[in-house]
Amino acid sequence: MKVVLIGYRGTGKTTVGKMVARRLSLPFLDTDALVEEMTGISIPTIFASAGEAAFRPLEREVIASLADFRGVIATGGGAVLDPENVRALRTGGTVVLLEADPEEVVTRIAGSDRPSLTGLQPEEEVQSLLRTRRPFYLAAADICVRTGGRRPDGVADEIIARCAGRPGPVSLPAGFSLPSGEAERLATLGPATGLYGIAGHPALHSRSPLLYNALFARYGMDAAYTFFDHPDFGAVLNAARLLGVRGLSVTIPHKEAALAASDEADRHAAAIGAANTLILCGDHVRVSNTDWVGVRRPLEGVAAERAVVLGAGGAAAAAVYALLSLGYGVTVLARDAGKAEALAARFGCEAGAIRDIDRVRPEVVVHATPVGMAGDPRSLLAPEDLRPGTTVFDLVYTPKETPLLRTAAARGCRTIPGTEMFVYQACEQFLHMTGIRVDDLTMWEVLGE
Ligand code: NAP
Repeated sequence: MKVVLIGYRGTGKTTVGKMVARRLSLPFLDTDALVEEMTGISIPTIFASAGEAAFRPLEREVIASLADFRGVIATGGGAVLDPENVRALRTGGTVVLLEADPEEVVTRIAGSDRPSLTGLQPEEEVQSLLRTRRPFYLAAADICVRTGGRRPDGVADEIIARCAGRPGPVSLPAGFSLPSGEAERLATLGPATGLYGIAGHPALHSRSPLLYNALFARYGMDAAYTFFDHPDFGAVLNAARLLGVRGLSVTIPHKEAALAASDEADRHAAAIGAANTLILCGDHVRVSNTDWVGVRRPLEGVAAERAVVLGAGGAAAAAVYALLSLGYGVTVLARDAGKAEALAARFGCEAGAIRDIDRVRPEVVVHATPVGMAGDPRSLLAPEDLRPGTTVFDLVYTPKETPLLRTAAARGCRTIPGTEMFVYQACEQFLHMTGIRVDDLTMWEVLGE
């Protein structure tokens, strides 16, 4: 068994960690103490003489050596900002986030010999670092435990009980659809296996379960990813809470509802108006949006002044946001003029009908409607709508070569398939959900493409 305690300084990682280790008859290690042992220099001296930049590689070396350790590990407050550290800590381990309010942290660390990391006053430093570190803490954690105002032995009891896991087998409530054999697979999961899933309707066609389950195995995580296929997002969230789900990928039609149900949203989800990634920390729901990263990455390096987005739904909003972030001028073209104008107005860009593509003469076209999906032979654009050299990115990813991409390739355009969006948004989403960075080549390989 490996239990890893993460969180800000002063949240009780060492005190509680020693108690948990004693009660479970496991060895205890503190990564800061190991760095001091390895170097023969105290942490304050390392920071004072060579700064944080010198400390982090030492910390990384120590944490890398603990991948196979079995026992309780307390980590430094900034350790999980490095995805390589998260990967080593997660291997065969349960990661527990200890949380306390900033005021309590300030009181607990008063008089410490640790140097300031920011040069700010203690209260401001704690607030500022907690704000920036929070997404990393939440991503890396399997379990969140509040330590504020509590005695360490009570916290240790809670950690031990929660690491033991669920009382019964995993079973989805009535009303959820599962593919054949999946209910039986869920019933065999261990009590401590972390649960993740795809929330959507329909969702049973999704490739995410295959992808995530392969990644969990690759990174030695005791975790499973399944289907939460239900038309009502409220029912999905209730089921997720009931089963202690850690994270959800969110797809049609729940992306707006996920944002509305959240306690905390990243700025990208708030600007796009939709979330495709949800993390549960106890009852607290944090959402983010990684779809826009999936549109942006394949276009980075494409120099353009004018781009067109075809469609005015959720994927189109993420595409507009991504294209604006690349500095392109964006026009939204859709069959419903009112919807095109409403989306364009939110982002201060132009709108029109699909036939207006002639007038706009874009260098980049992003297609964000379902036209051409799975056996649909239609393309929203004819060859004469496109100029040779235009970059055409079809967000539809089944099939890989859509009618639009075939038309574009025959016209001498550069084409980008929707699988690129899928892969890049998935890399980013896996990082948000687990704190582990997967590069796109690994993701392609795991997808078998
Ligand atoms: P959505 O919110 O339902 O929006 C669909 C948009 O397509 C709406 O503007 C809709 O117009 C328009 N549309 C539908 N049928 C049309 C037609 N026959 N002619 C013209 N416009 C039409 O869906 P979404 O979430 O934006 O997803 C759109 C597509 O993006 C999906 O089908 C999927 O293939 C793709 N996608 C890919 C990825 C990826 O990872 N590659 C991720 C997300 C989405 P109305 O409002 O007038 O109906």
